[in-house]
Amino acid sequence: MEGMGDAGRARGMMDFHVARRKMVEDQIAARGIKDQRLLEVMLEIPRHLFVDEAMWSQAYNDHPLPIGEKQTISQPYIVALMTEALDLRPKDRVLEIGTGSGYQTAILAKLADWVYTVERIRNLAIRARKVLDRLHLYNVSLRIGDGSEGWPEHSPYDAIIVTAGAPEFPQPLVDQLADGGRMVIPVGDRYTQTLWKVTKRGKELRKEDLGGCRFVDLLGKYGWGL
Ligand code: SAM
Repeated sequence: MEGMGDAGRARGMMDFHVARRKMVEDQIAARGIKDQRLLEVMLEIPRHLFVDEAMWSQAYNDHPLPIGEKQTISQPYIVALMTEALDLRPKDRVLEIGTGSGYQTAILAKLADWVYTVERIRNLAIRARKVLDRLHLYNVSLRIGDGSEGWPEHSPYDAIIVTAGAPEFPQPLVDQLADGGRMVIPVGDRYTQTLWKVTKRGKELRKEDLGGCRFVDLLGKYGWGL
């Protein structure tokens, strides 16, 4: 929107607000997401800022979008489904593996006390940090590295979300989950995965199948290698 006057810019922002409301109503609430706070946050976060300006007009559509480095920003509904499954409370500390654009991070930051997020691709991490700062979301610690190993220094976490497909449940992440903690993670082969919600109770893991999905690879030591 460079070169636009104030009126044009205001109209553009209004259009994004309308697009966001439609996204939340038609793609998220209509598919059964009920968490009111999550719906409010998805209405509030300007998703277009997390993609290249050339793709702003598609930012609220019902599909993932490329963010460079052969990676994607996830479909809005998948973001909502995974977030709702985490059952976040305001005091929760969350670990996110795969910062990507930072959009999912922003939603977590609005719903939890602190977000620790790990991204292996430096350029994406730097870009995500800039957008998060622009939105004044300062309750986020971001690390560049292999998230398949988790971030043990800040464990245990009340919730862990993995936004890339893993060949199996990475043991370090299971170990870093608090008692009573929830983890949402896609596990399967490199083409299709099952989205799992794992709840830890003492030594037991309760696993709930949330449906089929398709994510980019979780690379790294406890992922598909490097
Ligand atoms: N949730 C993100 C968003 O809203 O933009 C989308 C994440 S994208 C589908 C998956 C991300 O996981 C990519 O940015 C990729 O670089 C990252 N990734 C893959 N393996 C990783 C690893 N071992 N550690 C950290 N990040 C990893």
